[in-house]
Order: sequence, then C-alpha cells, then structure tokens
Amino acid sequence: MASRSRIVLGNWKMNGSRSSIRALCAGLRERIDTSKLAGQNIEVGVFPPFAYLDFVVRELDGCGIHLGAQDISTHDAGAFTGEVSGAMLADIGCTSVLVGHSERRTLHRESNEEVALKLAAVLKHGLRPVLCVGETLSERDGGNAQKVIAAQLAAVVAQNGAEGIGRTVLAYEPVWAVGTGRNATPEQAQEMQAFIRDWIAAATSRALADTLTIQYGGSVKASNAVQIFSMPDVDGGLIGGASLDAAEFAAIVAAAA
Ligand code: PEP
Repeated sequence: MASRSRIVLGNWKMNGSRSSIRALCAGLRERIDTSKLAGQNIEVGVFPPFAYLDFVVRELDGCGIHLGAQDISTHDAGAFTGEVSGAMLADIGCTSVLVGHSERRTLHRESNEEVALKLAAVLKHGLRPVLCVGETLSERDGGNAQKVIAAQLAAVVAQNGAEGIGRTVLAYEPVWAVGTGRNATPEQAQEMQAFIRDWIAAATSRALADTLTIQYGGSVKASNAVQIFSMPDVDGGLIGGASLDAAEFAAIVAAAA
C-alpha cells in the first residue's frame, strides 16, 4: 500500500475572539513542532472563522501550521453579498477549504451537487478541498449509511472526475458524532472509511484510492484519538470542539504520530 499523509485539522467553527484566538495560536506555536511532524508525514492545519483568517495568517506565520477556510463561494467575484471567493482565500494565504461539512449540509441545505460545485471552486483556485461525508443516525439505523455516503461521493466525482477527487482530502464525519460527545467506535470508523476507499477505487483506481488521506471526524478527544487513529484506513482527524484548546489539540496531533 502506498504511504499516505496523516493530517490533523482543527475546525474552530464560529468560535473565538481576537484575544482568545491570539492565545490559542500562541499555544499551538508552543506545543506543535511541524518540522518534526513533517518527517513523520503528518500535517496540521486550522480552520478559523472568516473574520479572523487574516489575523491567524499573521499569528501563525512561519510555524508550518496550514490555514484553511470553512466555506467558499461557487462564484469568482461580483454581486454576491456575504460570499467569499477562492481567489480571496488564496490571496490571504489559505491553502485548504472545508466543503460538505454536515453543519452546512443541514443548516444551509447544501445539496450534494452544490458541495460538488464548491469543491470545483476550491480546485480552480489551486486550494485543497477537505470533503466531509457522513450519515445521520436515522440513515444509519435504517441501513442506508453506505448509500448516503456513496451518493455524496458520486456527486463530487461526477463534477470533478478522478483528478479532482485525487486532489481532495476526505473526512468521514458521521453526523451523529459531530459535536455530540459520542464518537464512532474505531471499528465503525474503520468499516466506513474502508468502504469510502473501496468506493473511490471502483470509481477511479485502486492506486489513486490508496494514496488518499481519509480522516475521521466526530467527537475526537485526546482520550480516544490513539485508538481511532490506529485503524488502517483512518489517516488522522478533523477536530471540532477539542481543537479550541491548544493542549488538547496538540495531544490529538501527537496521537497521529
Ligand atoms: C467538526 O466540526 O467537524 C467536528 C468533528 O466537531 P467535533 O470534533 O466537535 O465533534
């Protein structure tokens, strides 16, 4: 099997203030040694709220922690009040963008097709998409989890092809585990992440699927990260609540090593 990057990302969602974010960045700089992690093929990144992106670029300057945005417009520029384009994100130093997060799919009713168009916008501007996929509890209980995730992946592959999915980091985030304190068991994560990799292998090629980083996200903490990250198809994590605490997040990053 090809060696894959392990990636640990912090999604700060709509949290923080100038002062709390300054302290969080200082805590990350102090605790995370990205040059050592690079030798272990591990990357670290954070996704601050839009309002603080430029501020975080400066606070984390030179420390090797990547910066990402939580959303992107499908448009490049113009009369789209409140939207932020990929060109703007690239201009200020972002390298990644989250697409398909369950909170956007649910609260903002983003369809699989809109997510696929957003992923295309990310790629167009030379940024790296982090594509979240996952099922709700009722979809899982109804035996439809794989069908739901296959449809989420199919829309992205139809729009962006093998080349597009090949430039994407995936995150399996069961909706019932995001922000609930109830993580998937390592076995549940492994089962679904192997399914995702196999689905992509069938849609593209086994060689491509084996190089893709597939993260797990959903109530990861320092106390459960080692077990979850030890599964063969889990290549790091997308961390929400626990990424707002520098010591906790650094411990999760250490678990990926
Ligand atoms: C997330 O926001 O993507 C997430 C996984 O949140 P949490 O870790 O808080 O469940």
